Amino acid sequence: MRAEIISVGTEILLGEIQDTNSCFLASRLPALGIDLYFISVVGDNFDRLQQTIKQAFQRSDLLLITGGLGPTDDDLTREAIAAVLGERPYVDEALAQALRNLFTSRGLPFPERNLKQAWLIPSATAIPNPRGTAPGWWVEKEGRIIVALPGPPHEMEPMWEEEVAPRLRKRAQGQVLVTRTLKTIGLGEGQVDEMLSDLARSSNPTLAVYAKPDGVYVRLAAKAMGEGIAWDLIRPVEEEVRQRLGPHIWGVDDESLEGVVGRLLKERALTLAVMESFTGGLLANTITDVPGSSTYFLAGYVAYQPEAKIALGVDPKVIEMHGVVSPEVAAAMAQAARQRAGAHIGIGTTGVAGPDPLEGKPPGTSHIGLDFLGNIRTTSYQFYQGRLAAKRRGVTVALALLWRALTGRL
Ligand code: ATP
Repeated sequence: MRAEIISVGTEILLGEIQDTNSCFLASRLPALGIDLYFISVVGDNFDRLQQTIKQAFQRSDLLLITGGLGPTDDDLTREAIAAVLGERPYVDEALAQALRNLFTSRGLPFPERNLKQAWLIPSATAIPNPRGTAPGWWVEKEGRIIVALPGPPHEMEPMWEEEVAPRLRKRAQGQVLVTRTLKTIGLGEGQVDEMLSDLARSSNPTLAVYAKPDGVYVRLAAKAMGEGIAWDLIRPVEEEVRQRLGPHIWGVDDESLEGVVGRLLKERALTLAVMESFTGGLLANTITDVPGSSTYFLAGYVAYQPEAKIALGVDPKVIEMHGVVSPEVAAAMAQAARQRAGAHIGIGTTGVAGPDPLEGKPPGTSHIGLDFLGNIRTTSYQFYQGRLAAKRRGVTVALALLWRALTGRL
């Protein structure tokens, strides 16, 4: 099945928002065995939208359209699909009633212009949207399928997962692509590449190595006529990669370092506190992105100035003797965080966020301290690609250090 995606919205063409819907949909198609041939972005303009849909309808089996399903005059997706197919929209009474009920339940008057969201055409059925007012359209005509979904990702994504993907899974007959990503830390891209060079010659599954901010990823991708067969191709190669990179693999697929660390802390009933300087709270922020982090994360202190570090328990003599950007201060911050919060584990971060040097140390000079049940470890490195990148790297290194401690790799 040949698919194409059309994202509708002048906001995208103006660069005000990024077209993440296309990325989302594109990433979901390989597993369904659907080949994606084109992605287009078109503004809220009837003629151009109609033209784009017409062209897509001529060359593709499946059109995935997002955006332009709102109630206003510049939401034109329904009109354009109807025009391309030569059909007249009508108000579906059941949809209209559901829409009126939704407004009543929210205590809002029903604006008549919203009736547009209850439109259908003869070839269309509605795709329920439990999180918004605009139902999607599932259109079938002349052996082609058009799926129109609302623009907001928090509405579109669940509609895709719950309604559209299951229907397409039944229809698509091509080869499916299954992927497994193994995420590593502590090895360079070239090093991993070298360790796996013989496996990289395989064509099914293919093996690709690429560097990401949280380490080096190894991606295995297999194509076959069914998911089970594709997994059978991946399994032995994954096993081999695990043999070679074992101690460096911290997670797979969608797992994040903070999620993996969080799970380990929970399993071992350990608690954590952090004291941050150059990471400015980003470490605490990342840790608390994980649902349920309150069970193990006790406190995060941002101690930017030396006085703040001292007020939170760092010995001023350590700062005086070694400078604020030093392994000793990182260790003292980790210890102070642990003690102050009464946690099992403390982490401290100190470094030069840049762009100017500090204490004669170049931007990107970074020290991370870990107090793991009273055992102190530090790690130091220099990395600079701007302040935000330096902060992000600090967070990754801190979480990786904690992961190594939690898995007995230190
Ligand atoms: P609504 O019913 O909310 O009006 P809609 O289907 O008409 O939705 P649009 O008006 O085109 O959709 O977009 C609504 C919002 O959805 C945009 O402001 C933007 O935040 C988000 N959005 C739209 N298209 C995309 C896209 N391709 N990628 C990411 N976000 C998008």
